[in-house]
Amino acid sequence: MPRFIVVLGSIMSGLGKGILSASIGKVLQARGFSVAPIKFDGYLNVDCGTMNPFRHGEVFVLADGTEVDMDFGTYERFLGLNLNKRASLTGGKIFQRIIEKERKGDYLGRDVQFVPHVTDYIKTYVKDYAKDLNADFVLIEVGGTVGDIENSYFIEAMRQLSLEEEVLFIQLTYLPDLYGELKTKPTQHASKMLLGMGIQPNIIITRSDKPIDATVREKLRTYCNVEHVFNDTELKTVYELPLRLEAEGLWKAIQNYFSLPEKSADLSKWADRLRALEERQETKTIAIVGKYTKQIDSYASLREALHISSTEVPFNIRIKYVEAENVERDTSPLHDADGIIVPGGFGNRGVEGKIKAIEYARKNHIPYLGICFGMQLMVVEYARNVLGLDACSEELGKCADPVIILQPEQEGVKQMGGTLRLGDYEMEVKPGTILSEIYEGREAVERHRHRYEVNPTYVGKLEEQGLIVSAYHKGLVEAVEYDRQKWGFGIGLQAHPEFTAKFEKPSPVFTRFLKEVGKWTKQ
Ligand code: GLN
Repeated sequence: MPRFIVVLGSIMSGLGKGILSASIGKVLQARGFSVAPIKFDGYLNVDCGTMNPFRHGEVFVLADGTEVDMDFGTYERFLGLNLNKRASLTGGKIFQRIIEKERKGDYLGRDVQFVPHVTDYIKTYVKDYAKDLNADFVLIEVGGTVGDIENSYFIEAMRQLSLEEEVLFIQLTYLPDLYGELKTKPTQHASKMLLGMGIQPNIIITRSDKPIDATVREKLRTYCNVEHVFNDTELKTVYELPLRLEAEGLWKAIQNYFSLPEKSADLSKWADRLRALEERQETKTIAIVGKYTKQIDSYASLREALHISSTEVPFNIRIKYVEAENVERDTSPLHDADGIIVPGGFGNRGVEGKIKAIEYARKNHIPYLGICFGMQLMVVEYARNVLGLDACSEELGKCADPVIILQPEQEGVKQMGGTLRLGDYEMEVKPGTILSEIYEGREAVERHRHRYEVNPTYVGKLEEQGLIVSAYHKGLVEAVEYDRQKWGFGIGLQAHPEFTAKFEKPSPVFTRFLKEVGKWTKQ
């Protein structure tokens, strides 16, 4: 029998429901339970592939190519899982399906309604998910905040589910600090709103800028009618949250609610890795040169992959987000960098600055990592400045030497959603390359999200001049690297290795990059 834990956000958005759900999952996993996360999103997009990172943070890609939001990255990093498209249920997906059925005549003679048609669809979806995955716990994160129109039908479906299955409701909330006093009233109102929807939360978890005292806990217990109130104050890193919830006694509350036998947790490896991040003297600066630097969640997986790999090296890292347009004329924002990354990206804005940053890294032998667009621009920079070509990417306009071209299968693709080359592809890694050291001869599979590729007709010329192709997938260039004697450490991957980094299994690409950063000294 699967058990369901539903996490609902109240009062305001941005409290970290994803991190909370993932951390609850970790507390359970640490006791040997299997957990299956799932997220509901009320928006009418089918997936978030067409959303702007400025509005919605990064687009995360699952192994099967599904484009989802950054919470899925959090689940995978915390829980060490590789999820698939079934873990994401959006309003867009539901209504697409229901309208298809309506047109086929599946509801003939009936009006199609939120209750029961939409709510039944949701309940069946999660029950099937639980059954097929044979999970001990299904963790359901309801996107948005209690009181939104967008998620109200999901919440109603969860109320109905609680009449049929074992369901525990957790309300995440925020306690504003007014002249030193943490106020509970907004939370009380949100609990009442939930009650009005037929849901009594069993556990309240509070976010606040300082720890809550016994009075606040008691007040919430009494006025919100809940047994358990746990606190999630500001932590040094999000990876502390499972340990915090463990210390606060979350397991006991879950155990009692579902009448489970006692089970001890093993979070020692997790704690060891966290400890590795403390008490270091030295800090190295990694510059990420991109165009979404004002919304740092656009690079969430990249940031996390770096932080996770920093547990494997003896120094702390400081990530410096550098707006690409600012280095077009002047590279001084890069002068304190010990390593440079140009991440994935699209379109013209800032591109000359990115190319400048790559040239600066190459000429100064600063360790460089190019991801997707950052790899394509590494090829453009090399073709321009070493081979002397009039090089560009076809994505950016016309030139004599298009070293990056549209993938043939992308020609004629008009539809935007879900049509890039997405998800897992295997790389055949060339022996003797830096990349083959990184993957240690293991099968290298990484996730992708792109329309363009390296033009194979230029590979010969590039390799002659010291830009080595280190991996292919069926003729498509998957990775390049500098001849290290000439330019130091620099690698570029068409894939996004940041999407597969897990807290307990760092990405070997980022670990190697940071090791090179550690070895590099300014001339
Ligand atoms: N814009 C490039 C392409 O479509 C790179 C995409 C990316 O960096 N994710 O191929």
